[in-house]
Amino acid sequence: MHEKDVFCKIIAGEIPCYKLYEDDDVLAFLDISQVTKGHALVVSKKHYENFLSCPQKEMHKVMDVAQRIGQVEIKLLGALGVNILTNCYPAAGQSVMHFHVHVIPRYEQDKGFAITMNNNAEGLNLPALAGEIKDNL
Ligand SMILES: [Zn+2]
Repeated sequence: MHEKDVFCKIIAGEIPCYKLYEDDDVLAFLDISQVTKGHALVVSKKHYENFLSCPQKEMHKVMDVAQRIGQVEIKLLGALGVNILTNCYPAAGQSVMHFHVHVIPRYEQDKGFAITMNNNAEGLNLPALAGEIKDNL
């Protein structure tokens, strides 16, 4: 039995949340930090470390809810876009080791959130890299 993380405590009702959706497998609620207005978290009710270790059926249910919240928030809040984001392991920015998906609505000139993607392809052997990954799928 793992020590309860903050999401397990929210699921157990030990910590309150602003609930958006709940069924047998999935819970969605507002992120208390509100990186942007409407920032939501969708979590599997069972404890899995992250997206990569969540069984496919439950992962799909979490993603279904994230999609629906993104659709509703664009309409309802007038967001111009939405980031659907899940981090796997601390190196990728995962801070709570319980599978969760961020739904982050984006607005004109919002300052809450940024992703930078630099081009680091130089020096990589892309055909070899693609082949190696493909052969292991
Ligand atoms: Zn947990």
